Amino acid sequence: MKMYASCPICGYKLCKGESGSDVDILCPRCSKLIRVVITETNTNCTPTDHPKKVKTINLSE
Ligand SMILES: [Zn+2]
Repeated sequence: MKMYASCPICGYKLCKGESGSDVDILCPRCSKLIRVVITETNTNCTPTDHPKKVKTINLSE
């Protein structure tokens, strides 16, 4: 089932995707990086303030 993801800041429709998707999308309207996680029941869109830290893995823990 396709779910639509909208920017939580400006409401711009970012994309649609299948449940299980987990992507980071740069909003073209407000230039914020949005993390989109799509599940079978809902779509979670949260602003990601520090894009460079998104894929950082702390190996010391
Ligand atoms: Zn936006």
